[in-house]
Amino acid sequence: MAIDSSTPTGTPEPRKKTISNPYIHRLQRRHFLLFDVLPIAGTGAALAFVWVRPFGMLEFALLFSMWLLTGLGVTVGYHRLFTHRTFQAAPSVAAVLAVLGSMAGQGGVISWVALHRRHHECSDREGDPHSPNLSGSGFAGALRGLAHSHFLWMRRHEYPNIVHYAPDLIKDRRLVRVARLYYWWVALGLFIPTVTGGLVTMSWTGAVSGLLWGGLARIFVLEHIVWAINSFLHMFGTRPYESRENSHNGGIFALVTLGESWHNNHHAFPESPSFGLNWYRLDPGYWLIRTLAAAGLAWDLKVPSQTRMSAKRIAA
Ligand SMILES: [Zn+2]
Ligand SMILES: [Zn+2]
Repeated sequence: MAIDSSTPTGTPEPRKKTISNPYIHRLQRRHFLLFDVLPIAGTGAALAFVWVRPFGMLEFALLFSMWLLTGLGVTVGYHRLFTHRTFQAAPSVAAVLAVLGSMAGQGGVISWVALHRRHHECSDREGDPHSPNLSGSGFAGALRGLAHSHFLWMRRHEYPNIVHYAPDLIKDRRLVRVARLYYWWVALGLFIPTVTGGLVTMSWTGAVSGLLWGGLARIFVLEHIVWAINSFLHMFGTRPYESRENSHNGGIFALVTLGESWHNNHHAFPESPSFGLNWYRLDPGYWLIRTLAAAGLAWDLKVPSQTRMSAKRIAA
């Protein structure tokens, strides 16, 4: 199902699009403290730990590889495959992507998809879970908006009804199984670098360093990259395409965001597996999809036609 930025039509109007109750808000608060606040403390601890064990090749390799794997899980799996159905993938590939995305600690796959589909539906209007543009005018309003959209919204927010926003996913039994084990996947994402660090150095300090750099600091780095798309790129950057909301491209961040920083392109063509849209705009997420397609593990890539792209192009 391709999700357009407009309200879906043709589906029966549900009773409730979002849910808000004390139980859900308690879970949100716990998730916020564990997976959004704790990685900040973990990154501080990682920096302090360099006095015990300096940041070397092992730390770099664990931070980089775990960041890349979980980052691809989020952009290719959570975002391009499950949220927007921009291509189809072999069930095993879909499952691996869902697990890698879960390890990022940004929420279970079904909740993430529901929240993100709501972002596209309401983007920068009432109901958008994380718009930086709804917190008042002037400089103070902009600062409040950035703080809200980057981080603070996750403390407590309306929960999108997954029956309404992700009916396709809750029918997928394999994916529901992956989603149920979300906390275990996050734990696995901490366990792998810890054990690797310990075994490579045959020491406890190596294990702790692996946990801090490949686990907590890696979660911190990827989270802030993903959140910056929600916050800064709905305020600053370039806008080559016509789109209803205030999304922008941030081309210089293309590599570090694995292609996500072509955010205006993405809002203009949410059905496209390519966010760069042209080969010369770096888009590592799309490179992975093309590689999977070449191996016969992904197909039905819904890249928009040149005509469709030129129709939405804002004249310079
Ligand atoms: Zn999207
Ligand atoms: Zn957006």
